Amino acid sequence: MMYVDFHSHLQDERIIDLSAVVERADKENVKFMFSCGTNEEDWGCLAGVSTKYKNVIPMFGLHPWYVYKASIEWKNKLEEYLDKYDAHVGECGLDGIKNIDMELQKEAFLYQLQVANDRSKVCVIHSAKVWGEMLSFIKSHANKNQELMFHSFSASVEIAQELAKYNSWFSLSASILGKKDSYYKRLWEVVPHDRIILETDSPDILPRDGGSKYSQNNLNEPANLPYIAAIIAEKFGFSVEEFMEIINNNSKQALKSWMKIDL
Ligand SMILES: [Zn+2]
Repeated sequence: MMYVDFHSHLQDERIIDLSAVVERADKENVKFMFSCGTNEEDWGCLAGVSTKYKNVIPMFGLHPWYVYKASIEWKNKLEEYLDKYDAHVGECGLDGIKNIDMELQKEAFLYQLQVANDRSKVCVIHSAKVWGEMLSFIKSHANKNQELMFHSFSASVEIAQELAKYNSWFSLSASILGKKDSYYKRLWEVVPHDRIILETDSPDILPRDGGSKYSQNNLNEPANLPYIAAIIAEKFGFSVEEFMEIINNNSKQALKSWMKIDL
């Protein structure tokens, strides 16, 4: 069975031995790893990582946690990276976990949403604890045809139903675990089945159950994706084979349309 990790941060400085991480991913059949930049300081490192490891696909963006420390040239710099690597946009979005000025977040997010739309690129979106605000933002500013990828999606079924009216991808990580059983059944009814993909968000969101094969320094890594897929499959009431057949079709579709990679 093959796997694609659609969201991670492999340039993160907490990862001490990236070549071992990439090797273990390979061993577990994780074929590609999308890695998202978060701020001007990690874009260069991410570019280096993606040059060194051909199965690491870079995306560049300004994460809402870092909007307050962006330089005045961040937009130009971002567009240079997007041009040079023909990259998709993200991680960007809105956050309610850290107490960061919402107007500043919205300005940066709007710009990135529009840049992605202008370039016909996917916009990879972070949304945490502000789903109501996210939904009204999308309703006011997103182009109906532009591709949106909601990473670590774990919002309510009602929000999912609204976002499904857009050209949305729902990327699931271990953050979706721990909901009531009824949630998964209802979510499955409203989310288009050809738009569900998987991610680890490494080095974050290590499953809390302690079952992951790789958990050095309590960090998550792409090689845990088969385990994460298995526990998510169970929540949705599928065998891992049934679930991965759906996910693999979607992953192939996404790789083909986003990256012109034919698997
Ligand atoms: Zn992330």
